[in-house]
Amino acid sequence: MVRLIHPEHRQRILDRYQEIISSCERFLLEYMIIRPSDGEIRWILVHGDIECDKACTYRYLVGTIQDITERKQVETDLRVAASAFESHEAMVITDAEAVILRINQAFTELTGYIPKDVVGHKINMLNSGQHDDTFYVAMWEKINHTGIWQGEIWDRRKNGEIYSLWLTITAVNDTAGVATHYVATYIDISDRKAAEDEIKHLAFNDHLTNLPNRRLLLDRLKPALASSHRSGRKGALLFIDLDNFKTLNDTLGHHMGDLLLQQVAKRLESCIREGDTVARLGGDEFVVMLEDLSEYANEAEVQTEVIGNKILDSLNKPYLLSTHEYHNTASIGATLFNKHEKSIDELMKQADIAMYQAKASGRNALRFFDPQMQARINALAALESDLRQALIENQFIIYYQPQVHHNNQIIGAEMLIRWQHPQRGLVFPADFIPLAEETGLILPIGQWVLKTACAQLKTWEANVHTQHLRLSVNVSVRQFHQADFVEQILQIIRCSNIKPDRLRLELTESLVLDDIDDTILKMNELQKIGVLFSMDDFGTGYSSLAYLTKLPLYQLKIDQSFVHNIGVKPSDAAIAQTIIGMANNLNIEVIAEGVETEVQRIFLEQHDCPLFQGYLFSKPVPIELFEELLK
Ligand code: C2E
Ligand code: MG
Ligand code: MG
Repeated sequence: MVRLIHPEHRQRILDRYQEIISSCERFLLEYMIIRPSDGEIRWILVHGDIECDKACTYRYLVGTIQDITERKQVETDLRVAASAFESHEAMVITDAEAVILRINQAFTELTGYIPKDVVGHKINMLNSGQHDDTFYVAMWEKINHTGIWQGEIWDRRKNGEIYSLWLTITAVNDTAGVATHYVATYIDISDRKAAEDEIKHLAFNDHLTNLPNRRLLLDRLKPALASSHRSGRKGALLFIDLDNFKTLNDTLGHHMGDLLLQQVAKRLESCIREGDTVARLGGDEFVVMLEDLSEYANEAEVQTEVIGNKILDSLNKPYLLSTHEYHNTASIGATLFNKHEKSIDELMKQADIAMYQAKASGRNALRFFDPQMQARINALAALESDLRQALIENQFIIYYQPQVHHNNQIIGAEMLIRWQHPQRGLVFPADFIPLAEETGLILPIGQWVLKTACAQLKTWEANVHTQHLRLSVNVSVRQFHQADFVEQILQIIRCSNIKPDRLRLELTESLVLDDIDDTILKMNELQKIGVLFSMDDFGTGYSSLAYLTKLPLYQLKIDQSFVHNIGVKPSDAAIAQTIIGMANNLNIEVIAEGVETEVQRIFLEQHDCPLFQGYLFSKPVPIELFEELLK
């Protein structure tokens, strides 16, 4: 008998029997045995009495033994279930009608509900009102079909607060497969949600000012356009750029720059109505989007102007950056929008163009986009593409304007470019050289002019009547400051196989001052092989004696504005006279350009100017005509 008792229980049970026998009590014992027939472990319940003989000398046990293994198993399962139920996850058990039977402690902690608040109520008392009926219908359909539903859902806490959670509802089926209970598990994901929101916020907001960034602005522009389309009311886009922000950054440092941007952001926000948007595009560029303006363009423009001026005023007030008092202004470009008639891209571009217009007008100003601005920009774009075509199709030609000694002998010519435009006819350099400079097209154009010059010199070299002639070529800033400019010239000279000493390059004062060390270096190198330099338009720039003596110049060209005023404005005549004297003293050749009248020529000659160029002698002409003039 003793051997049957499971070793784990054996000692405890034997001790209990000893006590029972000595106390003559009724007893109830549960323990495990090893069933002798198959060695299986079974739980038994022993229920009995101690019986004695009359003298109470002999005692024996009387009772029943019951196999309770099954019951024990159920109890264990229940204990496991109960402890699982009290786990850290919030849980609710309902009956088949979704009436709450039990909730656990974690549920109380999550929602604030205690059992008596909810037990006996339908589970839908927890609904937040954030989802419509179809949502719940679909949810229960899924549970009844598949036995489980999982998803993100909004619920309501006892205090009314709505929170997001990850909900799992599982159906508990009986052996026939009919749902008898439902178990709902709640995982609070508000923290995760908050983190997601934070990430979204970072993606759509500028971290420095916390304002919407470009992406969010574009996102908001779409519905704004749509709503303007529906209501017929106009909106406006204002591009705001701080004046001199770079200077602040460079002088007081980026930290101060950041402080300024933050304060600007606050001020901008205070200038607009709720529903309007302030965004920061980056750097010192901000955008304000106004909505719901008047449906009439002129009224909407006035409304925009009022806000724009309010912004200018506000940004004009002094800033306190750490301990520095700082003053700043801004330039604003504005454009109205209405319906979908312009694309977002177009709108942004228009506001940007208007902003540049405000800057160009002297800053601290508001400008509206004006279609003429766009027309000018379009015209420039068309001109640029025409220029590219002109290069491919060789539409440029060179005119030659004689340079004359006072004895009327032609000593050479200045080469002046013209563009033979297929539709517009002859185009003068003032109408395309600046754009060619800006776009870099001046580089191939300049190369072509230099090659043409060398080829012409080569042709003249072969003829005794022309071999003494020199050619002056205008060189632009961008062209001259190319790193390999000297190399390019040498290459062209080599290829055309000319003597370089008749090639003259005309530079301007601004070109020289752009990078004076680089200029001197290049000039010296080219001068070594015989290429000489002339200072064009002399007198209009800085005309500093200091650089004049440093530069290896062979010639000064008196600017035509002084020549023009000879006999008209004595001070200009005096300047021309001074330049001649200075050049002669420094042993630099001097030439007067733009000589149109005999009066001018006589004055210049009387003051020792040996060379002239101007309409008095000849306008710039094509090569054939120039060669005619030589005769
Ligand atoms: P610039 O080098 O100062 O050329 C002198 C300008 O004055 C020329 O204008 C010429 O036609 C004009 N001119 C000459 N004599 C007279 C006169 O008696 N009266 C008046 N009113 N004007 C006179 P153009 O040909 O229109 O050239 C204008 C400017 O374009 C040039 O000024 C030069 O800076 C630039 N340019 C011309 N050709 C080239 C070139 O091949 N390359 C570069 N980079 N610039 C060039
Ligand atoms: Mg010139
Ligand atoms: Mg000139």
